[in-house]
Amino acid sequence: MNERIETIKAFHECRNFGNADKLRTAQRNVAAAYHSLSSEEFGTLTRFAVDSGNGDILSHLACFQPGSLSGLHLELAQKGVLYPPVIFHGADQQATNLIIEQLDNGEAENVNLSLLALAWADNPDVQQAFHSWRATPPSWSKSLHVPPHEYADSAGWELTENGERRVLILNKSYPLVPHDHPDAIPGVVQINAPSESSCQWCGRRMTALFDFDLSNALLVSIGIEGSRLRIETCDVCTCYGMVFTQVDWSGGTSWHPGNIRPDYLPDDAADWDFPKANALVLSDHQRPITESADRNMPISFSQVGGHPSWEQDAEYPRCPSCQHRMVFIAQISNEDYAAAEGIYYAFICQDCRVAATHYQQT
Ligand SMILES: [Zn+2]
Ligand SMILES: [Zn+2]
Repeated sequence: MNERIETIKAFHECRNFGNADKLRTAQRNVAAAYHSLSSEEFGTLTRFAVDSGNGDILSHLACFQPGSLSGLHLELAQKGVLYPPVIFHGADQQATNLIIEQLDNGEAENVNLSLLALAWADNPDVQQAFHSWRATPPSWSKSLHVPPHEYADSAGWELTENGERRVLILNKSYPLVPHDHPDAIPGVVQINAPSESSCQWCGRRMTALFDFDLSNALLVSIGIEGSRLRIETCDVCTCYGMVFTQVDWSGGTSWHPGNIRPDYLPDDAADWDFPKANALVLSDHQRPITESADRNMPISFSQVGGHPSWEQDAEYPRCPSCQHRMVFIAQISNEDYAAAEGIYYAFICQDCRVAATHYQQT
């Protein structure tokens, strides 16, 4: 048996790595193994994962190498292997239609999983099915928390009012890495810098979660023609609710009048440590936008662009000015620079020049 495949299988079989340092080492090793698989090894591992229905390996293959499960989705759907849903990223028409038929015929074993898989398949057949289920809600949709078409946001897109697809993520992804990382490009993105303004809910000084130098070519995928974008937040209050700011494309930012104070805010905000400024910088080493799509991936999650790594359900905020869903542009994982958990997410509505921040933890 090949050494890289052995490393990968052993990683996924291991239930206890001993301690956090050993886990990080094992994660780095397994990520390196996935990245260096030859096409033959890829084929061997993929076959093993499909035959055994090993969702962990399938999702790592799909996230590390988008497209690597092409041609296998029908087989997975026939076997009922729909989890984790990201394995259906880019699934073909045949697999998609089987899942849609199962839903339409009332034969889906798990409606929730079927809809999540369709969201990741993200093709015209799915758009059409979501569109028609929105117009005529099927009986099975009564048991769901949200209508079927709203599952699209779990895979980074939404169905517009006229049934088209609108993408909620950027089409490139660059990790944020420590200063001593060989791919580090200082000065393009600053994180967690102290701001001079104050939170209008708790009075704490605000934090510039992200400060982007928009003139840098690495940030072209944000799609804003301007010099600077600063996204401020209250690092405490945004753990309990969305914080919206009005921004401009030259670094200006102010509290948005549409902010709605959360029902609960902690009364000990003054005791919270401020996040360390600029502990991470941009890397110029692009990674697949799917690499961060599954929270179980053995990677660091701080990044600009790509899929958000939701700790809980997907939650793209609605812009308080136009009510459309906002586009995800960056996230910071506390794990990447502090002994803390949780991820801060940042979003933008370009039309209204509104930014939003949000936080999740398990
Ligand atoms: Zn606050
Ligand atoms: Zn808007």
